[in-house]
Amino acid sequence: MECIFCKIINGELNSEIVFDNENIIGFNDINPVAPTHVLFVPRKHIEKVDDFETEDLALIGELIYRAKEYAKKIGLNSSGYRLVFNNGKDAGQAVFHIHLHLIGGRIMSWPPG
Ligand code: AMP
Ligand code: ZN
Repeated sequence: MECIFCKIINGELNSEIVFDNENIIGFNDINPVAPTHVLFVPRKHIEKVDDFETEDLALIGELIYRAKEYAKKIGLNSSGYRLVFNNGKDAGQAVFHIHLHLIGGRIMSWPPG
């Protein structure tokens, strides 16, 4: 298995884990674009948003839920934050294991580049 996020999930690769349960892990992005930049990743290997099916609806719902609860826990909810799924190469997806970026702690512009 060459997937780096599966390696992090399996403990083969180190990361700064900030959330962990039976379905999802959250760890700090190695190349943060803001003071808070956490990746929320389902343990199940799904390549990208395009590939998730109705059987994964609860899992993807939980992914968003865990991210927003973490944002609340660290106090980001009052100032705001961004949740991002990059889907496919034109969106800049580099790791093909579905993940939700939680980005916050600075003022961001819209639209993104
Ligand atoms: P994406 O472009 O949506 O596929 O985002 C992939 C993200 O994974 C990027 O923000 C990378 O900085 C991050 N990343 C890549 N390798 C690692 C790693 N070993 N640990 C933590 N984050 C990583
Ligand atoms: Zn994977």
